[in-house]
Amino acid sequence: MDSRAENVKAVRKTKEEKKLLRKQIKASHTLLKHEGINTVSQPTEYLVVANGGLGNGVCRVQLQEVLDGAATVVSLLMPPNKPYAFVTYTSSDDAQQAHTLLNGQQLQCQGQMVTLYFSYVERIGCEQRESADLPPGLVVLEDYVSQEEEARLLQAVDWAEHDNVTVHKALKHRRVKHYGYEFRYDNNNVDKDKPLPIGIPAVCDPVLQRCLKDGHISIFPDQLTVNQYESGQGIPPHIDTHSAFEDPILSLSLGAKTVMGFRHPDGRSVAVVLPERSLLVMRGESRFLWTHGITPRKFDMVPAHGSEGSVVTSDPSNLTLNRRGTRTSFTFRRLRHAPCVCPYPSVCDSQSPPAAPAPDAPSLPRDDGDASRLEAQFVHQVYEEIASHFSSTRHSPWPRVRDFLLALPAGGLLADVGCGNGKYLGINPEVMSVGCDRSASLVQICIERGFQAFVSDALDVPLRGATCDACISIAVIHHFSTQERRLAAVTELVRLLKPGGRALIYVWAMEQEYNKQKSKYLKDSGDKENTQPVVGEGGHSVKQSPLPDVAEEKGSTESTPKLSVHTNRTAFNSPDLLVPWHLKGEEKNTCKHGGGSSADAKATPAPAPAPVFHRYYHVFQKGELERLCSLVKDVEIRTSYHDQGNWCVVLEKVPK
Ligand SMILES: [Zn+2]
Repeated sequence: MDSRAENVKAVRKTKEEKKLLRKQIKASHTLLKHEGINTVSQPTEYLVVANGGLGNGVCRVQLQEVLDGAATVVSLLMPPNKPYAFVTYTSSDDAQQAHTLLNGQQLQCQGQMVTLYFSYVERIGCEQRESADLPPGLVVLEDYVSQEEEARLLQAVDWAEHDNVTVHKALKHRRVKHYGYEFRYDNNNVDKDKPLPIGIPAVCDPVLQRCLKDGHISIFPDQLTVNQYESGQGIPPHIDTHSAFEDPILSLSLGAKTVMGFRHPDGRSVAVVLPERSLLVMRGESRFLWTHGITPRKFDMVPAHGSEGSVVTSDPSNLTLNRRGTRTSFTFRRLRHAPCVCPYPSVCDSQSPPAAPAPDAPSLPRDDGDASRLEAQFVHQVYEEIASHFSSTRHSPWPRVRDFLLALPAGGLLADVGCGNGKYLGINPEVMSVGCDRSASLVQICIERGFQAFVSDALDVPLRGATCDACISIAVIHHFSTQERRLAAVTELVRLLKPGGRALIYVWAMEQEYNKQKSKYLKDSGDKENTQPVVGEGGHSVKQSPLPDVAEEKGSTESTPKLSVHTNRTAFNSPDLLVPWHLKGEEKNTCKHGGGSSADAKATPAPAPAPVFHRYYHVFQKGELERLCSLVKDVEIRTSYHDQGNWCVVLEKVPK
């Protein structure tokens, strides 16, 4: 090799090194800024591995293999949901060797490439919460059935069968089949006088005999529900209806393990691993008071070793990811024929007083106090109640919002104010995205998806002013019920922007037909599943039952007219209205639902209709959003447009 070639090579190497150094410095800054982890330049035996966390989809085994390749690893801590891990080597020399060998190494995980950046830390800052206990009354018995029994049970379920012997429904999130009695998802109960022709299959007898002998039950169950969950499917949190079934409830997990989430009304939550072939017994408090559910996702955080059927704690030395397979659960229950007398009346449908009359349709607010009360009841409370169903209809990003996000410069900070289930937070991985929403349930969904999100009102976002390169407000500002509050929401968004930063705002348009094009919202009439969600109200089926005009029905005796209830998939006839949300037929929590209206019960005399919630909207008329934004200081409208039934603007903050 001549000297010229060597020189070129040296220059190239320096360039690569510089690039690596730049990226590493950026990674260190990110750790300090968002996680409070301080990296140091002199070698220690501790290294933080940026991008090597469970939150990036990196598995423990995978990372361990890489780390072992450099020197002997003393410990590896992977904190839950975090994008980094900590590794301890026996000496700072070993750590230095690992740093030299591994920094910048790429790792293929879950279909995407991550680059690992290593930095020294003085000590490992990883708080370890104490391990949680199982909910009282809950037992998980491992290996309760053998592999042969498991195979026999799974074979006994014929999903292809389409007769009326057993009831088989493809619910949105899973396949369900009932034996003995049908569990009805419209009223969350069973028809006790209408047994199905086929009872619990005989193939279940040996395991039920065992349960009887072992004292888990004192009487044979008479109802069986078989649920099949593909990877990525789940079931919303719920309590099995008290008046429908006795105590306890048994559930066999077959085919694959999953993690079931239990939650006490006081907010305590416990994640429990249900291994394949295990039996779950829910008795007493865990059956009556705690909700249980399965978060729809493809990977679960589970303990890396130790007891299988156990609580998932946040112990970072013992967490890894488990890829979900197809799990089939056999849930055995005994019908109840007398009212429930459990000690938990707050969640007991046998003991709760008859449903309180639904709130009257509100009037347009007269002052700010009125407005915030209206929004609390007809926006915040409703989103809290429908969060899980709402989130399940919000997957596809709106294309022009995505384009805006993808055009943002790398390394910038984005705030999504009113982020819902976080569907825009992961669009552009080159920017640091934070989301906030008024609904704690939706924020929880964001966090479970690994996003940075917090609960906040859009009128008072706890972020420093002039810090964001971009803000988005998608389908949020139309929920404010006075012009002053809508203006305050835009002003707050602009406050967050740096000079030169841009904000994208979407609000629902009064004009659902524009340039002779009907919006997706109008076109999606009828019972369609899985349509592209629209910002306003799309992506879920809506019954076309005409709703009475509440204003007319009640009579307008007051000076301020009552808000009218909008008929879904029709043109708007008023800028301020209540839009119904039909909660989809799923097993539900037995709690009473707020925000529902008696209007629907009157309009649909069918037995026990699915709960309907009403959300307040102010739909914007042409030019209104631009006029509103022009009242805000220090900002210019860069562009405005109509997009699928929404009015949209891009604002840019100008230097003062
Ligand atoms: Zn009860």
